[in-house]
Amino acid sequence: MRNLKPYSGDGFSFYESALAAKDSDGLRLRLGAIAGQLKTSYKNYADRFDKNNLEALVADGIFTAHKADLLSLYSYQFSVIKALRLEIQREQPQAIRYTCQHCTLTSNESLDHFVPKDEFPEFAMNPLNLLPCCIKCNQHKSHVWRKSGNRKALNLYLDVLPAEQYLFVDVTFDQYGDMDFEFYLEKPKSVTADLFALIEFHFDSLNLFTRMREKAIPVISELQNSINSRLGNLSYPEIAQEIKDAAAANKLAFGQNYWKSIVEIELLDSSPFLRLMGL
Ligand SMILES: [Zn+2]
Repeated sequence: MRNLKPYSGDGFSFYESALAAKDSDGLRLRLGAIAGQLKTSYKNYADRFDKNNLEALVADGIFTAHKADLLSLYSYQFSVIKALRLEIQREQPQAIRYTCQHCTLTSNESLDHFVPKDEFPEFAMNPLNLLPCCIKCNQHKSHVWRKSGNRKALNLYLDVLPAEQYLFVDVTFDQYGDMDFEFYLEKPKSVTADLFALIEFHFDSLNLFTRMREKAIPVISELQNSINSRLGNLSYPEIAQEIKDAAAANKLAFGQNYWKSIVEIELLDSSPFLRLMGL
């Protein structure tokens, strides 16, 4: 997981361009009547975004009354939304541009509304409220994003991810005696309890331990084949060191807690894997 760079354009101008692109005079007329309030709400969102206190947002009844119209603007198939997703993707480093950073497991072909659009329909089209995300993460995402005035959901635009390792894995065995993995989180001393709670909620609500485990299983064969193809020219410790160096470099590109690097480093020294390699 890596932090994402937010949309750098003006959010309300984006909203206005989306409304202008809709082929409905009635919709433009009805939403035109609340343009002033909408503009203020976008400014309010941007202010809270800058202070990282989105949890203090207060819903306004006027937008609830226009909910159907406001929600009708957002559609994944809408060309304006597709163009926005591409624009946000282009803001990110190339290595992570097309991968969902919520899970780092699959491609980010959808957009997640950080503040749910059902609760705040006025932000359905706010680019600062939209994060590139995969369909699975979007489906798993909890509707609970704040509780008792505190934020529960991690925001990859705002919450600076730790540089320290917090994701770990144990090599275990499944019921058939095959190698398996158990992922877990551990709070580094330098990470605040509040940030760690956001990370824990993130892993839990997106079911990341299970989803990472499923992606980690094939890494065993991948690593085994990669080592076998090099044995003969190099010794196992030499190859293992090379793979560890590459895994460390991948952490720089894909995040310090990149699941695959963590799995590779853990496997190389584990007794089950050494036995599999006949060592
Ligand atoms: Zn995802």
